[in-house]
Amino acid sequence: MPLVVTGTIGIDTVFTPTDRRERVLGGSAAYFAAAASFFTPVRVVAAVGGDWPKQHRDVLESFSGVCLAGLEERTSSRTFAWGGRYLEDVNCRETLFTEVGVVAENPPVVPAVYANSQFVFLGNTHPSVQHQFLSNFKERKLIVADTMNLWIETARPELEALIRDVDGLVLNDSEAAMLSGAKNAVTAANRILEMGPRFIIVKKGEHGAVLVSREGFAAVPAWPADEKHVVDPTGAGDSFAGGLMGHIATTGKTDIQTLRRAMQWGTVVASFTIERFGLEKLQEITRETLDLRMAEFRALTGANA
Ligand code: AMP
Repeated sequence: MPLVVTGTIGIDTVFTPTDRRERVLGGSAAYFAAAASFFTPVRVVAAVGGDWPKQHRDVLESFSGVCLAGLEERTSSRTFAWGGRYLEDVNCRETLFTEVGVVAENPPVVPAVYANSQFVFLGNTHPSVQHQFLSNFKERKLIVADTMNLWIETARPELEALIRDVDGLVLNDSEAAMLSGAKNAVTAANRILEMGPRFIIVKKGEHGAVLVSREGFAAVPAWPADEKHVVDPTGAGDSFAGGLMGHIATTGKTDIQTLRRAMQWGTVVASFTIERFGLEKLQEITRETLDLRMAEFRALTGANA
């Protein structure tokens, strides 16, 4: 069933303790779409500026199933740009700069052919842009949103209004703590649940993810990656969301068992994203690669026992 995403498509500069990449393709919608495309076709709505390199478009187009009819190229604007640095403990990242560029302008127009989208993912971007986006989809079956500390700090009223109208919210543990005032992930999720959504997924980096909903709980561990395989964690969260929503849209179901399995798929896709910079690793792999790791993942979690 049709899946649509909005979010940022940007230019990232990333420093790790041992390496760096400058002006590579990044952004929440880029990672999400690439990850989801292993499961189902995915429609992208985003805007970039005149400084967006042609090679970045080629990268996105190399994922068959990513539809770019909703990608606006505004020649006189600047592309969203983000810089981040990972510390020795790669679970810790500092943002060096965020240049919002086109994200501060009018939101991109949703192509008429996207109107029948039933599964909607609101990737990380300004909460007002996320909220406005929803009204384009009259047949929506499930809306899931992501957010981050920048928006919790600078656009909290808009974010709270959005949270009232979504079915699911995906965020990491520090963001959940900031939003709810509770450090414990389950306590935080329970508080956010009271703000409106049906389920909350809290991602805890190398400690996996938990889902809290009115219908029950789910917990998945992370893929046990040796530190030599963790090259660049950027986009892990968005890839997790892409795998999650890709699976949900393929099944058309939103019950707790489906959500649990979807979290496993999200974990498996994200485990590849972090093995190389940017989208490099996802460009190399196929659906079969994912299936093999999923089988290993289920075996190690005892899911097959
Ligand atoms: P993740 O590592 O999953 O949190 O996602 C990192 C990606 O999100 C990078 O490619 C950034 O370009 C993008 N990003 C960083 N900050 C923001 C923001 N405030 N709004 C939207 N996207 C962002």
